[in-house]
Parts: sequence; C-alpha cells; structure tokens
Amino acid sequence: MLIVQKFGGTSLQGTERIQAVARTVTQTAKRGSRVVAVVSAQGSTTDDLILKAVSVNPRVTAREMDAFLSTGEQLSAGLLAMAIQAMGYPVITLTGWQAGIRTDNIYGNARILGLENDRILQELDRGNIVVVTGFQGVSALGDITTLGRGGSDTTAVALAGFLHADLCQIYTDVDGVYDKDPKLYPDAVKFDWISYEKMRRLIAGGAQVLHDRSVELAQRFGMSLEVLSSFTERPGTIVCREK
Ligand code: ASP
Ligand code: MG
Repeated sequence: MLIVQKFGGTSLQGTERIQAVARTVTQTAKRGSRVVAVVSAQGSTTDDLILKAVSVNPRVTAREMDAFLSTGEQLSAGLLAMAIQAMGYPVITLTGWQAGIRTDNIYGNARILGLENDRILQELDRGNIVVVTGFQGVSALGDITTLGRGGSDTTAVALAGFLHADLCQIYTDVDGVYDKDPKLYPDAVKFDWISYEKMRRLIAGGAQVLHDRSVELAQRFGMSLEVLSSFTERPGTIVCREK
C-alpha cells in the first residue's frame, strides 16, 4: 500500500502536535504501508511571512514572494522529519523541486503539470518515509512557484494521483466535511461521503476545508480523498465520485 497523508498548518503547530503527526505517520509505516507525508507551513507562518515581505517591500515581485513563502513548508518538513527520526524511522525530506513537482510559471497561483522525476519512488524503495513540502513546485525556468493559498491539499492529491497511491488522506483540524462551518454552527451536519461536484459547490460557496484545485484534480484522477482530523480517531469524510 502506498498512502499519501497531508497535514495542515494547525495540525503541525508546536512540538507536541508535530510529534503527534510523526506518530500518525510512523504508525502507518509500521502497519506496512509506504508513506508520503505532505506538509503545510505551521499555524500562521505563511501569513506572517507575507506581512514580513510586504513590510520590507510592498511591491515585492511575485517571483521573490514565491521563493520566500516556500520556506514555511520547508520548516515544517524539517521538523516533522526530525520527529520521525527521533522515533527511529528512516525518513527523508524533499522540497517541491527535489520531488520533481512541475508547474506552469504563474507565480502565486501555479498549476501542477506533472511529476518529473522518480525521486519519491526511489526513496520509498530505499525504505524511507518521504516528507514533501506542500504548496510548491518548480517552473520550466527552474524557479520555485507556489500553488495559491491552501495549495498543500493540491500537492497531496497530485502526488497521490501521479504515484498511483492507494489512499490520499487529508488531515486537518475538523473531523470531516460539514454542510456548514462546524466552528461557527454547532448544528452543522457531517457527511460520511460527498461527491466531487457537491464538494466543489461547497468550496465555491466559501467552504475552506479543501483547496478547490485539489478536488478538481482528484476528480480528474478518479482518486478518493479522505478528510479527517489529526486530533481525533473518528472516521472522516470521503470525497469521491457520485454513488
Ligand atoms: N501554507 C500555505 C497557506 O497558508 C499552503 C497551505 O497551507 O496549504 O496557504
Ligand atoms: Mg487548508
């Protein structure tokens, strides 16, 4: 089994949460699966980096902004890999360009075009857990590009699709997809499963649980996604084709 597991910023905020994520990943590996973990930047890191950049130069170019913002995910990847190492598992980090994630050259909102090399597979074959930075790739010019806010979901789906993974799990701070924001509405109802079309309508209506392009891409690959919480063991929501 090859499993792609994506962890959002809240799930990675602070040492204890990083360690909890490392436990999730290593438990999956221990059960015999090959694991690719995709990470977002911790907490509000990306917002903080944007503020820092524009305070130095409000007219920062998109190219420099992308190179700068991609570092948030590198910090997370490094910390998660260190926590996994501390648990005694072999692990390696790969940035978007090291993993061969090819994009167009629309800085700040790049689209993933393909997976160029087989570095991830080589590392999995060597027995490594592979931690990949979400939200970023490399353009034909060799420049770092970012995928738009929330884009780590799309990294995870793209990797799962191109690597023919058996499962793509999106770990977040809610335990699935609800008909309305469960943080604001206590009567929100959770879906056991939801079709790609309905999910896309929820996102168009403002739901932020998944990056819109991740659902579009999952639909194109025919890949089911599982949206679940990194804080509970409860089953999440499956995003899949209409039954
Ligand atoms: N760190 C990026 C953001 O805050 C990407 C992501 O979280 O998926 O938008
Ligand atoms: Mg997100």
